[in-house]
Amino acid sequence: MTSPRCIQICHRDDTLVAEVSFWASSAGYELGTRTQRADLLRDDAANVAATILELTGTSDNEIDIIESLSGRTKGKVIAVTELDAKTIGSVRRLFQAKSVEAIIIPRAEFGTRHLADLLKTKEARPELDRDMLAKSIASGHVVNHYQPKVPLRAGVVGYGVEALCRIQHPELGMIFPDNFIPLAEAHDLILELTDAVTVQAFRDLRLWDEQGLQLRLAINISPRLMSGLTWFELFEHRCSEYQVDPKRITLEVTESSSNGGKVLALEILSRLRLKGFQLSIDDFGTGFSSLETLYKLPFGELKIDKGFVFDLHKSPEARTLVESTISLARKLGLKIVAEGVESEELFNELRNLQCDDAQGYYISKPIPAATIGAFFQQWDAAQVASGKSSSPALAAIHGLLAEILSSSEDEEDDATIVLAPGAGLSVPETGRDITARIPSLLLSGDLLGSLEHIHRAIRAESGHSALKGKLASLQSELERSLLSDSLVITCGERSVRLLAGENFTIGRESASAEADVAIPCRWLSRGAKNLKLSLEAGRWHVTDLGSTNGHFLGGIRLNPNEKHALASGETLLEVGKTGAEAAPAWLRLRVGRENAVELSYGVRGESDEGAAAKWLIFHQEASVGRDSDASLVVDDSGSDFAADFSFRNQGLWIRPRSGSTVHIGRHEFSQAVPLPAGSEICFGASAWKIEKPHTISVQSRSLPLTAAIA
Ligand code: C2E
Ligand code: CA
Ligand code: CA
Repeated sequence: MTSPRCIQICHRDDTLVAEVSFWASSAGYELGTRTQRADLLRDDAANVAATILELTGTSDNEIDIIESLSGRTKGKVIAVTELDAKTIGSVRRLFQAKSVEAIIIPRAEFGTRHLADLLKTKEARPELDRDMLAKSIASGHVVNHYQPKVPLRAGVVGYGVEALCRIQHPELGMIFPDNFIPLAEAHDLILELTDAVTVQAFRDLRLWDEQGLQLRLAINISPRLMSGLTWFELFEHRCSEYQVDPKRITLEVTESSSNGGKVLALEILSRLRLKGFQLSIDDFGTGFSSLETLYKLPFGELKIDKGFVFDLHKSPEARTLVESTISLARKLGLKIVAEGVESEELFNELRNLQCDDAQGYYISKPIPAATIGAFFQQWDAAQVASGKSSSPALAAIHGLLAEILSSSEDEEDDATIVLAPGAGLSVPETGRDITARIPSLLLSGDLLGSLEHIHRAIRAESGHSALKGKLASLQSELERSLLSDSLVITCGERSVRLLAGENFTIGRESASAEADVAIPCRWLSRGAKNLKLSLEAGRWHVTDLGSTNGHFLGGIRLNPNEKHALASGETLLEVGKTGAEAAPAWLRLRVGRENAVELSYGVRGESDEGAAAKWLIFHQEASVGRDSDASLVVDDSGSDFAADFSFRNQGLWIRPRSGSTVHIGRHEFSQAVPLPAGSEICFGASAWKIEKPHTISVQSRSLPLTAAIA
């Protein structure tokens, strides 16, 4: 077989012709320049490696000439054009529909490099005929490669692969499916070919199962296989032979086959669906069916053709198509997969567009079965390393959200995701209505708002619905990500550090010793020898751990390592008292109603009356209110306000007393919520800022959710 050696060109752009001419002679091609388009059809088709012509969009017969060229030559037909992206898109679709194999390249993108690439693949393409194909199938030369399919949303688990066949020919080398599927379809070999692919895929699936990989498997099914029952029966037989669970199998069928007219195809598709197979519309966007028509067919998944994905960033039309397809498909309850995802940029963009799964060279090319396990291991590790799934809380939040969203689509009164939070509050809403607002709140990083909506949605849902269960899990994940074990609340001059637990040290911090109540007072401690405050048998005790600096508690000298119980009410601890003189500094400890200790510190000479309380130390609960009985008096404006701080699940909470509410930021809560660092809480008429303490390192928690989502 000798390769064609001629490149013919018909274009008004002299620079382009000159460039091609220069390259052709250096690459050993002979160049034929034509002045009339029709002349392009004259040359000996077998000798033409490529035809380059102009697409102006102004002449009717341009398209016809391209069509005839593509029909008669095996060479590349390349139309170079100044037309806009939208027109190019529609001509491409027209060509696709007519099976015209022509490449349309905008003038600005065309270069001889492009040409070199195109001709290289052309030259490498081996020729196959019917008998060779039949022999290849019969002698086991059909091999499956598998292209991974991954979920776009972090935290959603479930990997899949698509079986893509190749022929490993002993003489011609590796042959790709575009070069033999049409041949197989035209010569009644598609049944044998598909069966060979299926059997191999089912065996590989079993091997992956043994490696502990629970993958989904997709197989491509030619529309022609649905013109009779033979394939269907054979496939059913293979499924029982290999004991394959239909729920794990997706059958990808191209759009053209599913145009609704073919009664038998519809019957076969419906039977497959009833058996539990997932049906996917392949190459979506290249055919002519509308989504609504497709919805009437039993498809559960839609695969956006790579042509549109490639153009997502380049053409506004492609973007519109992808966006509207995704939003409509969502409403129809279809899963959306994007193929041809070649870059991280596209991957992220499709995730933002709420596409479910992605497939493409960015993730992986089709690879042999034996390397699939290693691939998914690496993919998992890379996801974790890049932080995409490093926070289990975040992953769970996304996972639960996906569940809520997909289950809402199964319902009759399908919930539409609302992008404007807070809309329509006057109408009584169902739990599902309220739930529909949560995704946008979460995505904008409004965790408190999400929590408020979850509370409301749970209250609005009656009985024990599945939705309620999922909301409750989402609630606890959110709470976990909001919890802090140590906080400072500030209002004007007053600043209170909240501490919960049973044992605390009070004194100077040093490199070797941390103090829970850190007070930089040289009289208070010596080295690491601080004071200790501990709760024993329900009473608070103070112990001098050996500073021997002369502390007096309620007038009695503290002996080192001897604990002294605190009476309820106020006790003064004189610090560093040496003789009859007044101590240079003091600690004031007031044991309040719930056994919570309000602690403040001062230096002699400074007014101690009205000294700002600096710490509120409690075991599990402390009341906050306006009456002087509260552990922490926060507001004396006279408005009714009462709530409790509590320490639970390693973190600080605020819980309004029954019948009352707390306002945090713009949100109102009638049940317990974690005290969220970075927000403002209203106690009666006074607003307190909630912050993490700066002086002491706090136990590190999972990633801030907003940062991880962005
Ligand atoms: P398809 O079903 O649309 O499969 C996707 C094709 O796009 C595959 O080409 C894949 O390798 C390629 N692809 C995937 N990601 C990217 C990407 O990011 N960039 C680019 N440029 N290409 C990407 P492949 O393997 O050559 O298969 C071509 C077509 O042959 C398939 O298109 C499918 O229609 C058909 N085919 C493959 N195996 C079978 C089979 O067992 N049965 C049938 N009936 N058709 C098959
Ligand atoms: Ca496919
Ligand atoms: Ca495709």
